[in-house]
Amino acid sequence: MDETRSRQIVIAGAGIAGLTAALAFAERGYAVTVLEQARQLEVVGAGLQLSPNATRILRRLGVLDRLAASAIRPEAVVLKDAASLRELARVPLGRAGEDRWGAPYLVAHRADLQAALTVRVGECRDIRLLTGARVTDITVAPQNIAVTAQTDGGSVEAAAGLLVGADGVWSSIRAQLAGREPAFAKSRFCGELAWRATVAAESAAGKAFAAVGAGDSVTAFLHPGFHMVAYPVSKGSAFNLAAFTKGKRIAEGWSGHADPAILSRAMRGTAPALARLVALAGPWTAFPIHTVEQRRWTMPQGIALIGDAAHAMTPFAAQGAAMGIEDAAMLAGLVGDFPDDLRRSLTTWENLRRPRIEKVLRRGALNRLAWHAWGPVAIARNLALATRPAEKLAADLDWLYGWEERKVVRR
Ligand SMILES: Cc1cc2nc3c(=O)[nH]c(=O)nc-3n(C[C@H](O)[C@H](O)[C@H](O)COP(=O)(O)OP(=O)(O)OC[C@H]3O[C@@H](n4cnc5c(N)ncnc54)[C@H](O)[C@@H]3O)c2cc1C
Repeated sequence: MDETRSRQIVIAGAGIAGLTAALAFAERGYAVTVLEQARQLEVVGAGLQLSPNATRILRRLGVLDRLAASAIRPEAVVLKDAASLRELARVPLGRAGEDRWGAPYLVAHRADLQAALTVRVGECRDIRLLTGARVTDITVAPQNIAVTAQTDGGSVEAAAGLLVGADGVWSSIRAQLAGREPAFAKSRFCGELAWRATVAAESAAGKAFAAVGAGDSVTAFLHPGFHMVAYPVSKGSAFNLAAFTKGKRIAEGWSGHADPAILSRAMRGTAPALARLVALAGPWTAFPIHTVEQRRWTMPQGIALIGDAAHAMTPFAAQGAAMGIEDAAMLAGLVGDFPDDLRRSLTTWENLRRPRIEKVLRRGALNRLAWHAWGPVAIARNLALATRPAEKLAADLDWLYGWEERKVVRR
């Protein structure tokens, strides 16, 4: 491959996965062009839990310092019964978690992470970020991927040795590949809705939250067919609430509307104080949760899908963004390791990432089953949690939060 071309990377999408990939490739000395369809980087979504497997990478890439001003390090994840508000279990995070997993567990507003990544990207002279540039066409020629993006004024062309599709769950790169190879698949509505609201700590809803949850922790309220996760963001000036119910598919996108009666019905039988919080916290924004399950994430000619574009997952393990961050760091590492053999880098990357992603998917499915359980299953869950010491609950997460690329890739 032409030496200059092989050192050029085009990334479609400036979400969490795309911006992390840009930084990781620039760290390896590549010239990176990021094409983002939005004119301005969207402040979408609400809170994010960032586990140590992700913050370790963000620290190495110089992002964590910039996030520190707004992020919070919660003391614990606390599971509560949504009907009785009784504490079922507590997983210690804070200093104990940082000592255990070697990096902090943080909660932050998604916009704060996006801003920290963007600032860091702006400091790297090898990264060119073009907003208002929607990738519409890719041409795969031997040793050269040509990308066309539509802009307000016309179009831009970019050519590279590697195209990274980090364009999210509704990825247009994936759609184009699916037209050529059936191994690339469409996203699928998983039957669940995510409901989100952010409340100011000083508001009536913020005070209602203080009556049922802890201001310094991540609290998950469990109920048959429903759960809600709440935690502080923006240095404690607000709380992020995310509730999950079954529901019908609504419009695609991150900011939708659904009938609030679905949420109230799912909360029947929960404690009045929790129902009061949910009523005060509205209006809620609903998101249909889509997943992507496909047999391939790469094309040996030089295309890799990462993050939600490759394997969008349900948020029940709070790992979607973290997996995109891991994907990005490991891809840049392996492409840099075998500069003359892109096919080998991509195959190795995909073979190493797949078992990890599948294990995280299984953990998410288990969490959903346990958290939405009812009747005898819920009783068994509560008993199991009551008898398992906090130390053991933390140890159960070592494989997930203690992940480090260097433990997987022998260099
Ligand atoms: C309710 C909920 C709670 C969650 N909580 C957590 C959590 O606590 N922790 C966690 O780790 N994860 C969490 N996730 C998952 C996480 O939000 C996603 O996995 C993550 O944001 C995906 O990042 P991404 O960069 O892959 O995709 P995106 O963030 O979707 O970014 C894709 C980017 O590509 C751009 N784009 C799209 N098409 C094109 C195109 N054709 N050309 C150019 N640009 C394009 C988009 O505009 C966008 O900027 C949660 C998800 C949900 C729904």
